[in-house]
Amino acid sequence: MRVAIAGAGLAGLSCAKYLTDAGHTPIVLESRDVLGGLVAAWKDKDGDWYETGLHIFFGAYPNMLQLIKELGIEDRLQWKEHTMIFNQPNNPGTYSRFDFPDVPAPLNGIVAILRNNDMLTWPEKIRFGIGLLPAMILGQRYVEEMDKYSWSEWMKKQNIPPRVEKEVFIAMSKALNFINPDEISATILLTALNRFLQEKNGSKMAFLDGSPTERLCQPIVDHITARGGEVRLNAPLKEIVLNDDGTVKHFVIRGLNGAEDEVFTADAYVSAMSVDVMKILVPTPWKEIEFFQKLEGLEGVPVINLQLWFDRKLTKIDHLLFSRSPLLSVYADMSNTCREYANPDRSMLELVLAPAKDWIAKSDEEILQATVAELEKLFPDDFTGDNPAKLLKYHVVKTPRSVYKATPGRQEYRPSQVTPIANFYLAGSYTMQRYLGSMEGAVLSGKLTAQAIVRNTAEGFSEGKPLPRFEETSQTPEKALGR
Ligand SMILES: Cc1cc2nc3c(=O)[nH]c(=O)nc-3n(C[C@H](O)[C@H](O)[C@H](O)COP(=O)(O)OP(=O)(O)OC[C@H]3O[C@@H](n4cnc5c(N)ncnc54)[C@H](O)[C@@H]3O)c2cc1C
Repeated sequence: MRVAIAGAGLAGLSCAKYLTDAGHTPIVLESRDVLGGLVAAWKDKDGDWYETGLHIFFGAYPNMLQLIKELGIEDRLQWKEHTMIFNQPNNPGTYSRFDFPDVPAPLNGIVAILRNNDMLTWPEKIRFGIGLLPAMILGQRYVEEMDKYSWSEWMKKQNIPPRVEKEVFIAMSKALNFINPDEISATILLTALNRFLQEKNGSKMAFLDGSPTERLCQPIVDHITARGGEVRLNAPLKEIVLNDDGTVKHFVIRGLNGAEDEVFTADAYVSAMSVDVMKILVPTPWKEIEFFQKLEGLEGVPVINLQLWFDRKLTKIDHLLFSRSPLLSVYADMSNTCREYANPDRSMLELVLAPAKDWIAKSDEEILQATVAELEKLFPDDFTGDNPAKLLKYHVVKTPRSVYKATPGRQEYRPSQVTPIANFYLAGSYTMQRYLGSMEGAVLSGKLTAQAIVRNTAEGFSEGKPLPRFEETSQTPEKALGR
């Protein structure tokens, strides 16, 4: 089967990869001149990479780890010590850690929380533990039901002291969805906590050893093209044209630089574009269908990524850091964490600015100024005194609509990969899968879409031939990595 896939983000590439594994021929049509969507990166004139976002891989990402193993690029993930490190705003320049010991889950998580005495008092830890009990006992069903509450509302309902939110969960909420606890659905935090507490290495983090475009997306493209598939850049989907029965007749690809539009015909069609673009391209007859109407309930959340190059080393920490700054979310010194960006003498900080709704329309200079002011609190020794650290250069990448904004009630608007249209499918981290709006969610959604296409064409396969297998992976990361 020839399958047209609009969008070369991780969802579109994963879908194409698994379709080629099943013997089909996917053609990925990407509007931009770069692979990766929200993980895209570019090289500047000095040859330095700058990225759409600081990206962390978790042990609790079985489908991503499986994909990486299948591509034979496991050595590109740089796993870090099993810990979570938070800045301490009341004591600038210092850190508080949650160190996970090498014992089975959930014991390692419980020990990590109990051993940390900088951020939470014993009564706060106990009240939080009791509040979490229903999620631990009742599992995912309870977690899904809590989608009607924001995290702040849920904490109040569970009688958890507000200081727990302030100390730990503002940072977690911003890291997971770029919004604050009074906006984020309780389901998001509970899902992440459940994964982190149930899997020994669930919260263990890895950095890619270079730019995601080159080090992760390109090997997927190589896999696809080696098996007869194709990935075309600068090929924006302009219109989905329908047959009389409402199924897709063809895609129209916009001709660039004065070229004619192109009619693109296939046996099946996939949108792996962001939900914000898909909403605009829904053909008029489909607007009557509830499935497509529901997409209106989803919207991408703004976020800003900054990369700052300095004339000296600001820290030796080789890990992700939770800034706990009102302006910033997580950050890392990529000159320590990432092989390709390594520099023993100079720091390159990559920082996520969130929530970004009040900043997204501001100039790069204003954003930079506000960020540098925050750095004075994160690295007081390097930004005060006679010889402050000098900023050598910077890049600001604004994404006005990134992953879907996971406010309360969104779960019911997330569509399945299979649509009511026989030859049309959806992929994307916003579609329904267990892993929220993340790289793992994108990879899993693409895999589920490929699986659905294969299943729906099973008759074509039957004739004694076994169906190809690439089930959703739920094995432990150790197994996925073959350790
Ligand atoms: C700043 C930032 C930090 C993040 N940090 C993490 C992290 O640490 N860990 C994690 O797991 N996740 C993280 N994420 C989320 C993760 O990047 C996304 O969930 C994932 O990459 C989404 O992939 P996708 O394929 O679903 O969508 P997208 O990446 O949005 O892909 C959609 C693709 O469709 C293309 N497209 C759009 N319109 C058209 C058209 N008309 N025709 C053809 N193509 C079109 C786009 O150009 C894009 O390539 C982060 C995201 C951001 C922005």
